[in-house]
Amino acid sequence: MKEKGRHYNQQAEIIGLTKKIAKEQIVPQASECDRKGTFPWEAIRAIGEVELPALVISEKEGGMGEGRGLFASVVQELAKVCASTALIYTSHVVLAKAIEISGSDDLKKEWLPYLSRCKALGAVAVHEQTAGSNAGAISTRAIKDGDAYIVNGSKFFITSGGEATAYLVLVRTDPEKGLDGMSTLLIVKNTPGLSFGQAEEKMGLRSTASREMFLNDCRVPAKNLIGAEGEGLKVIGQSLIGWGFYGAAAISSGIAKASLDKAVRHARERTIAGQPIGVHQGVQFLISDMILGCETIEAYLNTCAAAADAIPSTMALNGFKAKLYASEVAIEVANKAIQVMGGHGYCQDYSVERFFRDARGLTLHFKTSEWLKQDIAKAALKL
Ligand SMILES: Cc1cc2nc3c(=O)[nH]c(=O)nc-3n(C[C@H](O)[C@H](O)[C@H](O)COP(=O)(O)OP(=O)(O)OC[C@H]3O[C@@H](n4cnc5c(N)ncnc54)[C@H](O)[C@@H]3O)c2cc1C
Repeated sequence: MKEKGRHYNQQAEIIGLTKKIAKEQIVPQASECDRKGTFPWEAIRAIGEVELPALVISEKEGGMGEGRGLFASVVQELAKVCASTALIYTSHVVLAKAIEISGSDDLKKEWLPYLSRCKALGAVAVHEQTAGSNAGAISTRAIKDGDAYIVNGSKFFITSGGEATAYLVLVRTDPEKGLDGMSTLLIVKNTPGLSFGQAEEKMGLRSTASREMFLNDCRVPAKNLIGAEGEGLKVIGQSLIGWGFYGAAAISSGIAKASLDKAVRHARERTIAGQPIGVHQGVQFLISDMILGCETIEAYLNTCAAAADAIPSTMALNGFKAKLYASEVAIEVANKAIQVMGGHGYCQDYSVERFFRDARGLTLHFKTSEWLKQDIAKAALKL
């Protein structure tokens, strides 16, 4: 019991520390980074200084070995102030988890200490122009050549593309074997033949540096294979779906909560004809819908995260459900915040327009909502 109490205290401290970083080091730049589309390096450095990525690295590999519940709480706190930073952190954690779960001892030794402190930034490169959400349809090819793989192809919309030091790249090593012929490689930014396009001018999540990635005869050491050859989708399942989808759901949760906080404060402070707008039933209806949205997102995310921590075989399906529900409801909550705040909500100075634009991206990020719905239904139908 004492042990449990200590653990709760430690968790509360981590959340408190994240809130402090968010307030003191991320808030001051968040709006400007969004407007200019600049990468939030100061935020990433602040996260690295307190080793937030180590939170979910196993204790055996020098981390704290925390589960998805605390991970989601931390991501949520970051997303309340800057969803872009939260997404960059989530992508970074996905690479770290892939190495921790499936990397060789040498890769763990070489990368985990740096990733834990954000001394090296990680990213994930799965999707391609012609594959969309269907990771099984990628065509980036890796051919073994002695002690290396020669990689050719391209990836698109890579969060932290061109900014990150190391990329978890899904490649096809044996086209004959279909889904069993895919593998994951760690590819570093300075590899000859690797280049990046311009950052996309996006509607939201504007600081995340989404770039296309071009791999032209990149010679990647064979020791950078993560997992065995043919295990690419398994590695992606354990890292991107197993952790990244919970991070994505938590980003939506953070955006929804921040939208609610802004709307409630505004409804109390804004007076018209001597009365705060919150006295009106129309405004109250909007706020109560938002409260229910936030609370159901959080409760459902916690349920899915706890189930995945307890029963690893449920990790993918629970991740799909949590991401689908959180991302769709967060858009409604952020939209209602704009409504509560009227014209003010539509202006950049009040942040909720940013929250709405950011929320919109999460239904597209990795698997779109339609794909998630299909996957969830197919699991029930045993298809
Ligand atoms: C903010 C953001 C960050 C991202 N970060 C990364 C990253 O770090 N790394 C990375 O690899 N990728 C990243 N992506 C890319 C993302 O994974 C893809 O955008 C996503 O998989 C959708 O692919 P698409 O954009 O090609 O859409 P399309 O696949 O063209 O889909 C367009 C529409 O068609 C529907 N559709 C297509 N095929 C089917 C089907 N078979 N069944 C039902 N509906 C279908 C979709 O649901 C959607 O409504 C990011 C995307 C966003 C928006």
